[in-house]
Amino acid sequence: MPHTIMEPFRIKVTEPLKIISREKREKALRKAHNNVFLLPSPDVSVDLLTDSGTGAMSTKQWAAMMLGDESYAGSPSFRRFERTIRRITGMKHIFPTHQGRAAEGILALTRTKPGDVVPNNSHFDTTRANFEFAGVKALDLICEEGLQNDLVAPFKGNMHLEKLESVIKKYGRERIPFAMITVTNNTSGGQPVSMANIRATKALLQKYDIPLVMDACRFAENAYFIQQREEGYQDKSLYAIAKEMFSCVDAATMSLKKDGLVNIGGFLVCQDDTWAEDFQNALILREGFITYGGLAGRDLEAAAVGLMEALDPEYQTYRHATVSYLARAMEQRNIPYVKPAGGHAVFIDAKAFLPHIPPLEYPGIALVNALYLDGGIRSVELGSVMFGHFDEQGREQPSTLELVRLAIPRRVYTQSHFDYIIEILDTLLQERDRLKGYRITYQPKLLRHFTCHFETL
Ligand SMILES: *Cc1c(COP(=O)(O)O)cnc(C)c1O
Repeated sequence: MPHTIMEPFRIKVTEPLKIISREKREKALRKAHNNVFLLPSPDVSVDLLTDSGTGAMSTKQWAAMMLGDESYAGSPSFRRFERTIRRITGMKHIFPTHQGRAAEGILALTRTKPGDVVPNNSHFDTTRANFEFAGVKALDLICEEGLQNDLVAPFKGNMHLEKLESVIKKYGRERIPFAMITVTNNTSGGQPVSMANIRATKALLQKYDIPLVMDACRFAENAYFIQQREEGYQDKSLYAIAKEMFSCVDAATMSLKKDGLVNIGGFLVCQDDTWAEDFQNALILREGFITYGGLAGRDLEAAAVGLMEALDPEYQTYRHATVSYLARAMEQRNIPYVKPAGGHAVFIDAKAFLPHIPPLEYPGIALVNALYLDGGIRSVELGSVMFGHFDEQGREQPSTLELVRLAIPRRVYTQSHFDYIIEILDTLLQERDRLKGYRITYQPKLLRHFTCHFETL
């Protein structure tokens, strides 16, 4: 067997990738008030802002789109969508939504009341926002290993079972309508959750008659980690592992923009008939009729194909090889990152990369902006700008971690793009002393990282 893992596809359609001059990038960033979220995408060369909805579709997906039946009700495209999701999840009720957050919104609207508590290994930001908007307390109960940046452990995304039990005892079953488990754990760096942990979470909740809902956005990447790292799963297919994961939960939300391998879409699934009735009513009110949710028939077709492609072992082997390739190269060049790399991204430790920039001068933003100016690479800060907060006296408090995420879109970039990213990072590390911190000159009240303005110090 050759050692080189090559892309299990060849390229039929290309999209030109502009590489504008440094002068043009300087101008573009100035115009964007030094916030890469405000850049026009044609001014970006390698876009690692997110892996959400940014993947490339296969020939089979594009062909399936032509079969899209756009009937308002009873479209065969929905039947194919439903059949595929039922095959993978084993769920009785399948509802399409336009994105993951729409599924979360319906879950929060129909199954919670103000004052409730929903524990999760780690809530994704839209999940947390949906619950908090409904007056629900969203608790993160990540395992101890998940809190240690440099610790290499196989399943750092796991639920902390002892904490979960004490939360149940503290708030009582009446205030916990359900618990959630997010695979892979996006907020903790795309770290996987083991089958043993999913099973143990379910068993514990069952004792108290509390249902378990899976945030399944990266279920296929998680299945691959289980196959590679968990005892007893080496010979099981990704499809069998995914089915087993879903067999442990009562319902699931999903953003098809991740492991659905499509540019837009989501779903909400459950076993319980009462839940399904509530979901159906909310779906019709918010998204659309039950056989299309917020999607076109062609979107349903593309997702039905994409979900099965995500479980293709050759695809997952390649997918994980791209992330490991980047992580290994960073290791060799002493570029500090969170170990081990997750399923969909590598997180650079900006605090260690730029030790001369204090947290409240935003080392993450300094690195993000330098990556753009030097290489046209767009990344995202997960540090004091995104997670910092103000105390009662109005003083700004930094986040514990200052990270820069390089999220890898699916099937989009090839090895030379990665070599280019590594070269830019390597040069930046050599010249890091020239980087300066930033201060915020404008910020909105909510989710400031998206639209705030910065100025170099
Ligand atoms: C992306 C994501 C969501 C939200 O999905 P959208 O399609 O962006 O609305 C929820 N949970 C996790 C873990 C995600 O990564």
